[in-house]
Amino acid sequence: MKFNFKKKFGQNFLTDNNVIDIIVGLIPAKENDLIIEVGPGAGALTKKLKKYNANLIAYEIDHDTEDYLLPLQDDKTRIIYDDFLKRDIKNDIKDIKYDTLYIIGNLPYYITTPIITNIINSGLDVKKIVIMIQKEVADRFSARPNSKEYGSITVFLNYFFNIKKELIVSKKKFNPMPNVDSAVISLNRREDLEPTDFDKFNKLVKDSFQFKRKNLRNNLRSYDLDKMEEILESIGFTLNDRAETLTYEDFVFITNEYYDIKI
Ligand code: SAM
Repeated sequence: MKFNFKKKFGQNFLTDNNVIDIIVGLIPAKENDLIIEVGPGAGALTKKLKKYNANLIAYEIDHDTEDYLLPLQDDKTRIIYDDFLKRDIKNDIKDIKYDTLYIIGNLPYYITTPIITNIINSGLDVKKIVIMIQKEVADRFSARPNSKEYGSITVFLNYFFNIKKELIVSKKKFNPMPNVDSAVISLNRREDLEPTDFDKFNKLVKDSFQFKRKNLRNNLRSYDLDKMEEILESIGFTLNDRAETLTYEDFVFITNEYYDIKI
């Protein structure tokens, strides 16, 4: 393939057909659904996604891919040349009638977290997200409590999604070859989100993990610690514990108790 790969856009194109088939197969789209692809590159996933005959919108930043992507456009497939992070996605899809929304992407790794945060903050009713990301980032996103990979991003994502690590992909399956292996994860939207005040929950989680090696007493110094201790003890923890011992459900419970949020 003669292509001027750009490091600044995180361009590592997938070359392995089996891997591409597995990733595309994780999207159970039907004709009346909508798939959004982030960073189609030369269309490795896009071409195969077309088999679903679903509505498809792909966002690509690099116009040098036009020779590969523009021929894929038709009445159900649209390529938008722009920075995904700058788009008003709800507005882009407002004229499309669809049953279920899926998002897929072999993501540019330099903006993995902003892309996911953007999707969540945009309030899209996405049912499932299938993304390829750096293996160590996948470990963080899918980490269990009490592991060293577990952090505020894990809790944040687990609030919205059931996260599953689907497969590890060797760096050899890309052109050009990146420095590290990758992993495909799927994020399945939870049907019933635990009711809370999300902004307060999110702040409590971030504060609790502020200094990873410190315990809750140190990280939550700006809170009413007597009240916090009482709440923690009611679920079997103390201020001497670290944030990494708490599940996302624990954080929801603590938020609701601390701020007296009635459910
Ligand atoms: N999907 C292709 C594949 O699997 O072979 C390409 C994946 S490559 C890791 C990431 C792609 O995202 C590149 O084509 C890159 O140009 C594109 N990209 C990078 N930053 C982007 C952004 N902000 N918005 C949209 N696309 C972006």
